[in-house]
Amino acid sequence: MYAKVLIEYKVKSLDRTFTYIIPPKLENILQKGMKVTVPFGNGDKTINGFVVDITNEDNFGNLKSIISIEDENLVLNEELLKLGEYVRDTYLCTLISAYQTMLPSSLKIKTITSSYKKYETYLISEMQESFLEDYILNEAKNDMQKEIIQCIIKDKKILKNKFNQSSVKTLIKKGIIKEYKEEVYRINRENQKKDNLLKLNEYQQKAYDEIINNLNKSNTYLLHGITGSGKTEVYMHLIEKVRSEGKTAIMLVPEITLTAQIVNNFYDRFGSDVAILHSALSNGEKYDEYLKILRGDAHIIVGTRSAIFAPSKNLGIIIIDEEHSESYKQDNTPRYNAIDIAKWRSNYNSIPLVLGSATPTYETYARALKGVYNLLTLPKRIGDANLPTVEVVDMSLEMKKRNTVLSDRLKELILEKLAKNEQIILLLNRRGYGTLVTCDNCGNAIKCPNCDITLTYHKTSNNLRCHYCGYNCKKPEKCPECKEGNVRDLGTGTEKLEEELNKLFPSAKVVRMDADTTSKKGSHEKIIRDFKEEKYDILLGTQMISKGLDFPKVSLVGVISADSSLNIPDFRSGERTFSLLSQVSGRAGRSGIESNVVIQTFNPDNFTIMMIKQGTFLKNYQYEMAIRKKLKYPPYYFLVGIKICSKEYEDASKEASKVYNYLKSNLSNEDIILGPTTAGIFKIKSIYRFQIVIKYRFDDNLNNVLKELDEMYIDNKSVYLEIDINPYYI
Ligand code: ADP
Ligand code: ZN
Repeated sequence: MYAKVLIEYKVKSLDRTFTYIIPPKLENILQKGMKVTVPFGNGDKTINGFVVDITNEDNFGNLKSIISIEDENLVLNEELLKLGEYVRDTYLCTLISAYQTMLPSSLKIKTITSSYKKYETYLISEMQESFLEDYILNEAKNDMQKEIIQCIIKDKKILKNKFNQSSVKTLIKKGIIKEYKEEVYRINRENQKKDNLLKLNEYQQKAYDEIINNLNKSNTYLLHGITGSGKTEVYMHLIEKVRSEGKTAIMLVPEITLTAQIVNNFYDRFGSDVAILHSALSNGEKYDEYLKILRGDAHIIVGTRSAIFAPSKNLGIIIIDEEHSESYKQDNTPRYNAIDIAKWRSNYNSIPLVLGSATPTYETYARALKGVYNLLTLPKRIGDANLPTVEVVDMSLEMKKRNTVLSDRLKELILEKLAKNEQIILLLNRRGYGTLVTCDNCGNAIKCPNCDITLTYHKTSNNLRCHYCGYNCKKPEKCPECKEGNVRDLGTGTEKLEEELNKLFPSAKVVRMDADTTSKKGSHEKIIRDFKEEKYDILLGTQMISKGLDFPKVSLVGVISADSSLNIPDFRSGERTFSLLSQVSGRAGRSGIESNVVIQTFNPDNFTIMMIKQGTFLKNYQYEMAIRKKLKYPPYYFLVGIKICSKEYEDASKEASKVYNYLKSNLSNEDIILGPTTAGIFKIKSIYRFQIVIKYRFDDNLNNVLKELDEMYIDNKSVYLEIDINPYYI
């Protein structure tokens, strides 16, 4: 027997399989999809690869043998092997990089998997209980020994390192107890209490029934439920049903740290049947969770984007919460979208895919309205909670009153809510102290030396920082350009807002949540827990405070500047602003208390802002869709973004024109090719980037043309391409 082994071959962009002899000792255990160690090249070099095929053909001549199986537990099953091919073909990457993407870092090709196994030493006893009781009464030498035996009587099996080691040694020597080693999982929720599921209300029940009645079909559902309408409860009921039939479920959430509440609810309901997969786990934890899924020790997988590749057998349902979230799209190779992968798996297994959101993307919503997806609606908040009252404040009028940060109305409401002991959330999507550092003599705005972007002043650390590449320097005394003027810091970031709040409301307890206050592991969770326990009155932060949080005492949400999101030049900025503002507004009044939202803006007449005030998702959708139809944007057209990147400006520019010409002469005349233009931020980390955008409706040939284009640049040392199929940003 022979095995075809896929390896990471010299040039990263080439797939190669090599054939090896399967030695007799491995013949009965080796399976397709296993990771193996093989000899490679001359000498005694060895490498790892995946077995992608096993064959009988024997006309290969002089072959080497597989040395060993890296980990017998780890097998890419038939479904995942095929899924890798789909990823390769759709996102133009190599098969090996597709498989690598599908695996957590501790299982990737170059890591030694077996070293991640964790063992624990336990103590047990083979003696009769009556003998042990006797021993405690008559022979045990001290309290330590008594305690150990008592614990063994009670729990049968106890952890060795929890006890005094010399007493343990004595008891072992006397043959009273024995120790043994067992493989353990690092995360263990076995003793978690189990809450019952809540009784669904009529809307939840209707949505649930619709899906449950079609469990063996590959339908996609959009669960469009306003904030606080109880989507999570529907997910849990669906999962319970699927699990009762012996099947497994995958649920994706945008960012695990921000959705810690949901994960904890899942543990509370399903205990150790839940496996979690996300990037903040240690490599060992990832390995364990993956193994739990492979072995069928956990039927419910909750995780971020890459959990969509979880090796669940007998998959019964896939749920994607907050489906509009940008985190479902990977922004490096392969640039896959977890929703596409979910659809593929839903088809492969003939199972439902549920996309949930209060503000679905307009592409998703369009499909739901057309009947491509099944639309399920949760139109009301749970219980008698109402949506908050939304007010829009014109900041140009406030500026005349010298209110640069907080409007009179927002200040008034903050005081009112503080007096009632209720809580407040303030959104400001700019971290740092200011937004810009300029010279008061020449007007020069200080830029990052590596990126085409201005630096931000951080008062806490007293330095200037680039939010793209991490460059930082001390705040200069004099302008680096004219060497005369003083350097001033303009605008308001979260640090300045925090300072302002402490000045204006000295008795209020204020906490800030942004990338700077949450860099330590566990700090997100702590801020969220403390706020929920009412240790703080005001939570201020960047958009990370807008997602998935459920605080019963919040009755006021303030948006300090709605304009930062509106002013981004992207065809989706209206959609995104609506989504962000209604998500953050949705944090207020969830438990039924009267609640308010104040949105500060210099564009009070902007259509999206007006729609937020009216609370109509549908009207904003229709408005934006009319524009997209006219300008030929998704969902009317599909997009491909191609970035042409180089350290040398000239090279990037020259190759960009070449790429354009190549596309022009090879693609259908129906396709629209825009560019080359300088991409969004032209220079990042010293790399110049040009962009070409293709808009198309149908083009069978497109994939081939892109593949050929991609291959043309494989060996180019100075210029590389980034091809993005259905990009989120252009
Ligand atoms: P969404 O995700 O739609 O914003 P959640 O799932 O967070 O809403 O639900 C809002 C609140 O309502 C949560 O505290 C949840 O426990 C509660 N809830 C959900 N469904 C029910 C129900 N059927 N009965 C009682 N409370 C419910
Ligand atoms: Zn930079």
